[in-house]
Amino acid sequence: MSSTLRGTLRPEPIRSGVARGPHGLFQRRVRPSVFGEPEFAVELVEAEVCAARPHRIAWSAHQRMVAAAAGGGVDVAWLAVRSAYRSVALQRQVWEYRLNERRQARLDAGLPALSERDLERQQRLWTAKPGQSAHHTGFALDLELYPLGPREGRRSPAYAWLAIHARVFGFYPYLPEPWHWEYDPPGLVAQVTELRRRLAAGEPASELLRAPDLIPVAAPAERAKVGRRRR
Ligand SMILES: [Zn+2]
Repeated sequence: MSSTLRGTLRPEPIRSGVARGPHGLFQRRVRPSVFGEPEFAVELVEAEVCAARPHRIAWSAHQRMVAAAAGGGVDVAWLAVRSAYRSVALQRQVWEYRLNERRQARLDAGLPALSERDLERQQRLWTAKPGQSAHHTGFALDLELYPLGPREGRRSPAYAWLAIHARVFGFYPYLPEPWHWEYDPPGLVAQVTELRRRLAAGEPASELLRAPDLIPVAAPAERAKVGRRRR
């Protein structure tokens, strides 16, 4: 059980940062060094329910968010989960494949070979190193906005809805990729710590596998003020 935990589970303050992008969003990232990989059998949603295998806690929040979006007139096909959990082992394969591709492309173009260090530095702009992707946790969800690409994705009505409402459900954007949202509400570290403790001790944990209650958010006017103060 404890072998699935990497690093320490320590509470983190909300870093609001500077509001960015057309919707003035705050980015907040799930750190795989904090959560590590989930315990497959219990923490991830079964493949029959969602092939992308999100973390159960994020999945239940996502479903409530989709229900709210449907009620708000959003075409929720854009919000379906396309890709979620990705193992460190799979990321290692992807990383090696892309690295080889990059090396070969330089060779084919007659360019001088790069040092491994420089090759990796270029690669990191596009691909997370194994062990460093938020997708390892199951809390990062790539939505069906993905095929729209970054520009169209940001202009879509579904994204505009997410920009206003996703935070209420615990989801935060990764600004370069409008399809990529991470579930990381305050208290998640404590919730996951307790969940794993109970699972390891064989204690019932079902209520911890549901998302916590709705997170109170500041009224829009108050949020705008925070943005202007550039905290
Ligand atoms: Zn992603």
